[in-house]
Amino acid sequence: MNIILLGPPGAGKGTQAHRLVASRQMVQLSTGDMLRAARKSGTEMGKKVAAIMDAGELVTDEIVIGLIEEQLTTTTAPGGFIFDGFPRTLAQADALGDLLDKVGQSLGTVIEMRVDDDALVSRITGRFTCGDCGEGYHDTAKPPAREGACDNCGGHNFKRRADDNEESLKVRLMAYYRETSPLIGYYYAKGKLQSVDGLASMDEVSASITGAMDRA
Ligand code: AMP
Repeated sequence: MNIILLGPPGAGKGTQAHRLVASRQMVQLSTGDMLRAARKSGTEMGKKVAAIMDAGELVTDEIVIGLIEEQLTTTTAPGGFIFDGFPRTLAQADALGDLLDKVGQSLGTVIEMRVDDDALVSRITGRFTCGDCGEGYHDTAKPPAREGACDNCGGHNFKRRADDNEESLKVRLMAYYRETSPLIGYYYAKGKLQSVDGLASMDEVSASITGAMDRA
C-alpha cells in the first residue's frame, strides 16, 4: 500500500517512515533526504536549492516532482511507498496522482500526524542523527545510551541539520500552514484522510499508523 505521511516539520514523519520500512518492507521516499543528498554530492540542482532549504522555504514544485517521478519509475517497493515530506503543495498533490496513474499504482491512505507548534520547537532544535547509520536521537527525549556513541552502530559521527534552528523553523512552519495544510482538506474530500495523534509515544504513534493502514 502506498501512503502519504502528512504533518509539519518535527511531527515525526521520518521516524515513523523508518519504522514502516523495517516492519512492512516499504520504501521511504523523502524529498528532503533526496535534496540533502543532491547538496552533499554537489550537483547543479543541489547548489541551486541549498540557500532555499537553509532558509526554510520550499524548493520549486518542478524539482521535487522530478525527483519523485525518477524514483517511482525506477524503484520497486514490494510493501509500497511512503511519501514523506511530499506532496507539500496542491500542485505536487495533483502531480503525484498523475504519476501514480502513469505507473499503474494508487494511493492507499493519507495519514495526518497532528502535533501542536510548541512541541515542534523543542523536538526540532534538540534532534540529531547518526551520520553513519541514520539512527535518530534527541538531546532530552532520546539521548544515546553511551554519550557520543550511536546505540545502533557504535559510530561517533553525529549530525544536526542546518535548518533545525528556531529561525528557519518559523519559516518552515509558515510554509506548512500556507502551502501544505490545504492538502488536509484536499485528501479529506477524496476520502483518503486519516488523522493520528503525533504527540503520543513513538510506539503508540506507530500502532495508530499501522491501524490506519489496515483500515484503509
Ligand atoms: P524535510 O526534510 O522534509 O523537512 O525537508 C527539508 C527542506 O527541503 C524543506 O524545508 C524544503 O526546503 C525542501 N523540501 C523538501 N521536500 C519538499 C517538497 N515536497 N516541496 C518543496 N520543498 C521541499
